[in-house]
Amino acid sequence: MAVVTMDILITEEVEGDAIERLSETYEVFRDAMLWEDEAKLKAAIHDARILVIRNQTRVTAPLLEAAEKLIGIGRIGVGLDNIDMPAVSERGVVVIAPLDANATSVAELTLGLILALARKIPAADRLTRTGHWNRREFTGMELAGKTLAICGFGRIGRKVAHLARAFGMQVVVHDPYVKPTSPLLHDTGVTLCHRLEDGLAEADFVTAHSPLTPETRHLFNTLTFATMKRGAFFINTSRGGVVDERALLEALRSGQLGGAALDVREIEPPGARAEFETMENVVLTPHIGSFTQEAQSRTVNAVASDVERLLRGTPAINFVNFPLPRR
Ligand code: NAD
Repeated sequence: MAVVTMDILITEEVEGDAIERLSETYEVFRDAMLWEDEAKLKAAIHDARILVIRNQTRVTAPLLEAAEKLIGIGRIGVGLDNIDMPAVSERGVVVIAPLDANATSVAELTLGLILALARKIPAADRLTRTGHWNRREFTGMELAGKTLAICGFGRIGRKVAHLARAFGMQVVVHDPYVKPTSPLLHDTGVTLCHRLEDGLAEADFVTAHSPLTPETRHLFNTLTFATMKRGAFFINTSRGGVVDERALLEALRSGQLGGAALDVREIEPPGARAEFETMENVVLTPHIGSFTQEAQSRTVNAVASDVERLLRGTPAINFVNFPLPRR
């Protein structure tokens, strides 16, 4: 690699004026596909003081071994499941992630997907384009009066609850880390369910908003889908690994679920697997939850300002870990 001194290494596609401004002052090396090549990534990170990534670059302990000069990682996005956080903190590296920047966009997409399922919008669009005009086939359902179960009452889950209430939905939430006395529940009009199954059993729509952790991997599986009302809809804009996709396929094929909308997949990109892809009652989007102009510029600006702070030797604002003193 030609670059010898490098302040900032960007290993995925990241654009924006804020990055251009950083390039005027600092040495920035960008390769949008570097995340794919472990050996090249390891070589490049050796000289980097800051690493800027999205969700594809896997920051592992072996990669960090090579990152001798690294002081900070800027995560354009929210989920931290591609970063070995204990290993990063152990090496004294700060992780920057503006956690609030995406929540509105992801919540709005979630409501869009709920509406798409309830009113069969993508299927109606597909057929209408072929000259069909079959209105009865696309008889849908109203959201008003229906029950939405939200799994994970964090930043996004809370915004989804707010939007769903505006549509007149009943909202039940499950989150093992939110207590019944939590102020987060005040004036929200939502009901907290201690057991996930209780929320699932009464919901017409179920939406996943937890992070991907060992505890939540395949939280939605054959058993949980069986607990849901027959014909209910499932929406996932969190992380693909929260769902056992085999179990979801089976629940859709058997009619246990009426439909599903997935913005995230167990493997991304999933390739042309032609399973969910051929189902009329499935809506698929390519992990676009945070892809709005507003969320992207908020996130990139916040990460870029924190990167500059770190490089100037001042503390970051959007830090999400407590690094140990550097060895
Ligand atoms: P957050 O940390 O604010 O909220 C997550 C909530 O999940 C927390 O309240 C936590 O207590 C809860 N939780 C943890 N374990 C749980 C469990 N076992 N069961 C139920 N709830 C549990 O995070 P957020 O900003 O709301 O984001 C949620 C997830 O959405 C992120 O972790 C990320 O994976 C995903 N995300 C996706 C996109 C996208 O483009 N589709 C964009 C941003 C975030």
